Amino acid sequence: MGNMLIHNARVFCGVDEEVIDDGTVCVTDTGFISYAGHSDDVPAPAWDYEVYDAEGKFVMPGMTESHVHLSYNNAHPQQLNNQPLPIAMLDAVDNARVLLGSGFTSAISFGSAQGLDIPLRDAIQAGRVPGPRLAASDRDLGSTGSNADGTFGGDSSKKIIADGPWAIRKAVRSLAKQRCDIVKIFLDGEAISEYAPPGILTYSDEEVDAAVSEAHIRGMRVVSHSRSAAAVKQAVRFGVDIIGHANYLDDEAVAMLEAERHRIFVGPGIAWEIALLDRGAELGLPRDAMEQRGYQREVDETISAVKRLRESKVRVLIGGDYGLNITPHGTNAKDLEYFVDLFGMSDAEALLCATRDGGAAANTDGMVGTLEEGKFADLVIVDGDPSMDVRVLQNHKKIVGVMKGGVMHCGLMQSNPYIAPDKY
Ligand SMILES: [Zn+2]
Repeated sequence: MGNMLIHNARVFCGVDEEVIDDGTVCVTDTGFISYAGHSDDVPAPAWDYEVYDAEGKFVMPGMTESHVHLSYNNAHPQQLNNQPLPIAMLDAVDNARVLLGSGFTSAISFGSAQGLDIPLRDAIQAGRVPGPRLAASDRDLGSTGSNADGTFGGDSSKKIIADGPWAIRKAVRSLAKQRCDIVKIFLDGEAISEYAPPGILTYSDEEVDAAVSEAHIRGMRVVSHSRSAAAVKQAVRFGVDIIGHANYLDDEAVAMLEAERHRIFVGPGIAWEIALLDRGAELGLPRDAMEQRGYQREVDETISAVKRLRESKVRVLIGGDYGLNITPHGTNAKDLEYFVDLFGMSDAEALLCATRDGGAAANTDGMVGTLEEGKFADLVIVDGDPSMDVRVLQNHKKIVGVMKGGVMHCGLMQSNPYIAPDKY
């Protein structure tokens, strides 16, 4: 790969809502952005470069999926992660390719059965397989009787059950030994669970303190499953870095999140509830029954929670729980549509959640999420204008190029991407 100049583009740098109509992006042969902005102001390059004429297409930062499960195999929600390890690994490789091809150049794992993320992250980093930059986790960590306990069957390859601060510290240390980036903990439950619903805390304060402090000592970050206000407050109080769900908030929870908004992120992960209500009947989980379980109320509560988070300027991230049969991998950009339709964001605001804010959560060194000099050259070329209608991002035919670290990936969504190996 050499230096590249992408010109004749409509450039969305992701710093704010501006779209530059006549824009240029320059990429160095080392995979960094050296310029992104108006074509008039491009500095005279001191080196040879290849010119790519974008023909007026839209160039934007690569997106971040903030809550990924690459071990999910597009199965029934109650039959996830049932594959034997060799098949599960192949599925995960495939899912990573599909995610990158869908325009997601970064992803934050919210748990991977059998610890698949770690070799996968390493293989992606080494360029052996295509995929997003992956903040890798291992199995979910939860207490006896938590949502982690029983969700994915009985054996310890699928989850880690630990009770008491010292057992939890030991578990977190074992995750450090696996070289995890992320520790995923369950702080409350799920409406579909028979014994661990939202609102019942599944860890005590001492246990959450042990998990988070041990992870931070070891250089890992912590993400939580926290649906209720109580579970959100517990997460904020003890330093959780990214809170998943946060469906039910009270005044105190909103105030705590607002006070910590410089460091904390919230990902509603609403796709699961919506898909369950809309398509659950196909799975033997009819809408009536799911409404009785509280899923419609959960959606309604999430809408008001996100409204309050936006008013408090808490960063809200897109993504979450794709990889079920009702939310297959590669449909992750559907989340932007939910942000517009359900949460009332403008298309450009939803794009900023997917790029700038997701990038800030994915990479704490500030190297991804915007098109700015010095950042990784992670970008997407779209035949359409997602700043006017984010739904175009769901059409894989309109994602005409995905660049990660200066390498242009094409043909990722073909069933056999290796027909064009020179493109990697
Ligand atoms: Zn999840």
